[in-house]
Amino acid sequence: MIIRDPALREWKRLAKARNQPCLPQTSFSLQEELENARFQHFPEIAPTPHCCFVDYGHLACICSDRETGLDNVYVHQILNHPDTPREVAALICKHELLHLEIPPREIDGKSTDHPPEFWDRENIICPEKRIAWAWIWENLWSCIRVDKKREGITVLNEWKSRWDLPRIGLSEIDVAAYSDRSTAL
Ligand SMILES: [Zn+2]
Repeated sequence: MIIRDPALREWKRLAKARNQPCLPQTSFSLQEELENARFQHFPEIAPTPHCCFVDYGHLACICSDRETGLDNVYVHQILNHPDTPREVAALICKHELLHLEIPPREIDGKSTDHPPEFWDRENIICPEKRIAWAWIWENLWSCIRVDKKREGITVLNEWKSRWDLPRIGLSEIDVAAYSDRSTAL
């Protein structure tokens, strides 16, 4: 999701959280995943946005710092876990960078962050999309909710008590069972 309004409390809290990022626990570097995604699919975006895990906000978002003009990608701490697959990070990185390439626009008088051309492009560059979303819902269903209005995924406060539970691996997940789940980050 995109956070565009600096007046939002969330925007300010994320900016603050950026200065105290969570120590990475993943088996890969989130920043490297973002750099790879930029290099492969968004060479026109430079520099690569900064990214970090934060224990606040939605599952993932991108927002620009009005003072520096730099973009920042924030990923929720619930995904900062040794069992988080690289495919989930790859999907998130590409999705958030795509927001910089395909801006929000109005459809039938209503602004949307994810116009049809956004999904068309995401489907092309994210072959891991279905399995990554199935993994997210299989493992995190009890701590996340769809935020239709903001077009993102809210992380509930319950995440703290469930963060250290082991996650189910990609190979054990029935992808078809999650085909109707929301896929907006
Ligand atoms: Zn989005």
